[in-house]
Amino acid sequence: MTLIDLHTHSTASDGSLTPSQLAAAAREAGLAAVALTDHDSIAGLAEFLSAASPHGPELVPGVEISLQRPGGGSLHVLGLWVDPRDPDLQQGLAWLQRVRAQRNPKIAERLNRLGIAVSMDEVADLAGGGQVGRPHFAQLLVDKGVVADRQEAFGSYLKPGGPAYVDKERFDPAAGLALLRGAGGLPVLAHPGLLELHPAALAELVGELQAQGLEGIEAYYSEHDPAGERRLIGLAARLDLAVSGGSDFHGASKPDIRLGTGLGAMRVPAGLLQGLKQRRARMLGRA
Ligand code: AMP
Ligand code: ZN
Ligand code: FE
Ligand code: FE
Repeated sequence: MTLIDLHTHSTASDGSLTPSQLAAAAREAGLAAVALTDHDSIAGLAEFLSAASPHGPELVPGVEISLQRPGGGSLHVLGLWVDPRDPDLQQGLAWLQRVRAQRNPKIAERLNRLGIAVSMDEVADLAGGGQVGRPHFAQLLVDKGVVADRQEAFGSYLKPGGPAYVDKERFDPAAGLALLRGAGGLPVLAHPGLLELHPAALAELVGELQAQGLEGIEAYYSEHDPAGERRLIGLAARLDLAVSGGSDFHGASKPDIRLGTGLGAMRVPAGLLQGLKQRRARMLGRA
């Protein structure tokens, strides 16, 4: 079966491969298509798209943003085939960068108050010029020997409710979905399984998001088990939503997750591309 992977991260956010290395890795893995979907950033897309080769894979420019989840917390949504030149998208992402720039020093301050000496320079170094996020703080805590691994860093300090957690402002669903759509990005709910909702509650939430512009759901995902995958494919069929899939590959930052196959069992069929493209053509009013 020919495979695709429509959810990956590069050094432009918290992945370890540069955008061109990512394109090369996807070619090596024999994928028919790969999407770059950095958190809150399209800074990697120009380099990514310039790595296109006649030998494939098809390169899909994307982005992953957080939306305010009704009732608290966040939802992740991918925009597939966004136009990185779209001025509204650029402005929206610039706002998210400012939100991060205000939040990161507060995280550092909380850690310092807990007696853990960290500086913004240290996390910025770890991010290597890409945007700084909690994963970089987690890595710094590992490097300093404060915790054994990143998982413990999140569990003990950085997760919501943790002593170093600082919330950040997000788009509300209608605004975030409209931003992606306006830039030509097909909005797909990322990793619905991680929301840990019962099927009926998930269906209700997805229905609400669909009314606000959602076009698809990521049924295939590293951490979805086969039963969950089937349930999500069924949900998409019932609600008439497109089906997508991707690993959430981050390279060495999340070494268990492999490009194209996730934790080992994920297989996203290349046949999904056609449905996603048709859906996008309809969204853009060209079909
Ligand atoms: P940020 O956007 O700075 O809030 O960081 C969010 C990112 O942190 C997510 O996309 C994940 O990659 C990572 N993350 C969040 N929670 C955890 C966790 N419990 N363990 C490991 N990584 C996490
Ligand atoms: Zn990430
Ligand atoms: Fe995500
Ligand atoms: Fe992701």
